[in-house]
Amino acid sequence: MARTSYDVIVLGIGGMGSAAAHQLAARGARVLGLERFDPVHDRGSSHGGSRIIRQSYFEGADYVPLLLRSYELFERLERETGRELMVLSGGLMLGTRESRTVAGSLAAADAWDLPHELLDAAEIRRRFPTLSPRADEVALWEARAGLVRPEETVRAGIERATAAGAELRFREPVTSWEALPGGAGVRVRTALGSYTAGQLVICPGAWALEQLADLGVPFTIERQIMYWFQPSGESGVEPFLPDRHPVYIWERPEDDTQIYGFPAIDGPEGGAKVAFFRRAGGECTPETIDRTVHPAEVATMAEHAGRHLPSLPGALLHAATCMYTTTPDEHFVIARHPAHEAVTVACGFSGHGFKFVPVVGEILADLALTGTTAHPVALFHPGRFAASGG
Ligand SMILES: Cc1cc2nc3c(=O)[nH]c(=O)nc-3n(C[C@H](O)[C@H](O)[C@H](O)COP(=O)(O)OP(=O)(O)OC[C@H]3O[C@@H](n4cnc5c(N)ncnc54)[C@H](O)[C@@H]3O)c2cc1C
Repeated sequence: MARTSYDVIVLGIGGMGSAAAHQLAARGARVLGLERFDPVHDRGSSHGGSRIIRQSYFEGADYVPLLLRSYELFERLERETGRELMVLSGGLMLGTRESRTVAGSLAAADAWDLPHELLDAAEIRRRFPTLSPRADEVALWEARAGLVRPEETVRAGIERATAAGAELRFREPVTSWEALPGGAGVRVRTALGSYTAGQLVICPGAWALEQLADLGVPFTIERQIMYWFQPSGESGVEPFLPDRHPVYIWERPEDDTQIYGFPAIDGPEGGAKVAFFRRAGGECTPETIDRTVHPAEVATMAEHAGRHLPSLPGALLHAATCMYTTTPDEHFVIARHPAHEAVTVACGFSGHGFKFVPVVGEILADLALTGTTAHPVALFHPGRFAASGG
């Protein structure tokens, strides 16, 4: 008879869940992973070829120790699987000296003594001729910034989890879960079966409201778009290749959001990816999201990108949607479930979680197996929303 009882069940084998399953199985736990879709799918939040990774974190210096550990774990995963997961092209955080993007990045770099340079507009233009900063704009340059590959990372996690003995079941959505009375663990139901475990780790991505309604976190699910343009300048894609083009995040006071982008990592015909960071107005659910990218949206992106990188927006090669699961303060939710000892949650990654995938896997394994972690996670407790009355 097939096993129905495990040490730990992981709900959702996307970014965080694949890393959690890997770390848990590597520590000897009997792990069942349940995933709604196929391995490495494009229906959630972990697809699109690239995600920015950086250390001088304008979202808060508290994230820096987690980032340093994440780099180590990405490198280890690369060695273990022989896959290229990171491309450290260097990165620029651009804006006026007072902008959150620049000032916040500088504060984190100073707090943790991270290697960086502050470039003025002339120096930015000299080093990176594709970028067109205004006279009053500066940039924090970080040589160790770059990108990670989300699909390859999830694939590597699945591979390592399976090799360590985890049982991963795809196309088997969880229909309900419950904590059993008296600290007896959890029961999880799917269309195909019913399973029990001592611990449940819930990594639901954009399905957070469906799976974690009782957590009391007012998540917003946001439709976001990624665009791949063929550079139009005289030198074509050349200046966008990763040996000479950085990742970048750019903030201008008149825009309602930053734009960010990547070098051309998919060869001369693959174009360079650019997007708006957290553009408002795209509230959706995983069921209602409009997966079509409309011509007016492409025109808006091309116009904005052209003001920052004039030679970028040539022909649009491709565009794709993706979901953010955003919390009111844009910090993550990673903790033991306040109402259930046997349940650990990881969600609300608010559009900036992928660079943390391996370290979140480590934290989730710590919390599920020992109830505590040495990593600094106080910032991520869901109780912060209850305390403020919402
Ligand atoms: C356009 C875009 C750009 C981004 N850029 C960056 C970036 O540059 N840098 C960065 O660090 N981060 C970035 N992010 C954020 C990052 O990608 C996400 O924070 C991260 O992928 C979230 O991982 P997750 O595991 O929470 O979600 P997912 O990877 O979506 O995993 C959740 C999984 O749970 C499964 N699931 C849900 N419900 C069930 C159920 N009932 N039963 C079984 N399975 C279920 C889903 O199918 C899915 O596979 C970006 C996100 C987007 C969308």
